[in-house]
Amino acid sequence: MHIGFIGLGNMGAPMAHNLLKAGHQLSVFDLNAAAVENLVGAGALPVDSPTAIAQGNAELIITMLPAAAHVKSVYLGENGLIAHSRPGVMLIDCSTIDPHSAREVAKAAAEHGNPMLDAPVSGGTGGAAAGTLTFMVGGSDADFDRAQPILAAMGKNIVHCGAAGNGQVAKVANNMLLGISMIGVAEAMALGVALGMDAKTLAGVINTSSGRCWSSDTYNPFPGVLDNVPSSRGYSGGFGSDLMLKDLGLATEAAEQVRQPVILGALAQQLYQSFSAQGHGGLDFSAIINQYRKDT
Ligand code: NAD
Repeated sequence: MHIGFIGLGNMGAPMAHNLLKAGHQLSVFDLNAAAVENLVGAGALPVDSPTAIAQGNAELIITMLPAAAHVKSVYLGENGLIAHSRPGVMLIDCSTIDPHSAREVAKAAAEHGNPMLDAPVSGGTGGAAAGTLTFMVGGSDADFDRAQPILAAMGKNIVHCGAAGNGQVAKVANNMLLGISMIGVAEAMALGVALGMDAKTLAGVINTSSGRCWSSDTYNPFPGVLDNVPSSRGYSGGFGSDLMLKDLGLATEAAEQVRQPVILGALAQQLYQSFSAQGHGGLDFSAIINQYRKDT
């Protein structure tokens, strides 16, 4: 299939590479010329604007952009995808944005005759490179069925979460829980060690007891408990604290719109905001444990 792809950053580039590997023809655009060159080297066709992608032969267009402002400009702008796409061309936004903006863009697409899905991902840059992302998809049943084989070239779990915007709902709810659980594990690990316990032994107890969760058994924030996680390499790589801060902001803003209390989510957002203000936004989000450890 001929696919248009806009947004070739840390996530978009490996996703686009996987589409090429699966035999699809790709037209690509990014504001960053080097990112475009990288894909052209692998066989993609360079295009110089969202308008040109929309006016080309792509039957489906995928975007992977930083935030809602970029998504709105690429889709709703004068030179954007919706104004210039042929009716029937499917649009899939994989960026993580708030559900309200996702629904606004999907509505504009539908009014123009373009089926649209929101399909944010989890799995990070490693999952994007390996083609093992989880896609949380919002949109109609028929559109989901049509997109499924394309998403399967980039991911392992493709989950239909309901109508437009619900992919983003699943993403913000999951990541809010992840932020909260990481802070909880950090607090418990720091307490145990401050009271004299060995970190590995404590993690072993937690991981066979009722406190066990992904943040404790797969991504433990205490250095030396697990190999091959950011806490054991100075909190480099992984999922940046500023990205977690972004997702917690999306959750608290979305909650405000429906007057839904997210007390721990808001507290987690403030903790990551404070951590970022101290200059640590580039560290993996498990580094939040440094707010608790007296020796750091
Ligand atoms: P990134 O900043 O590395 O890449 C974004 C790309 O979009 C850049 O290459 C940028 O030049 C391009 N871009 C920005 N505005 C544009 C425009 N108007 N037209 C064309 N290109 C434009 O970001 P990323 O890490 O790839 O993340 C992309 C999305 O995926 C974000 O919404 C993020 O929250 C989400 N996400 C990221 C991760 C992760 O681990 N990095 C994990 C899950 C989800």
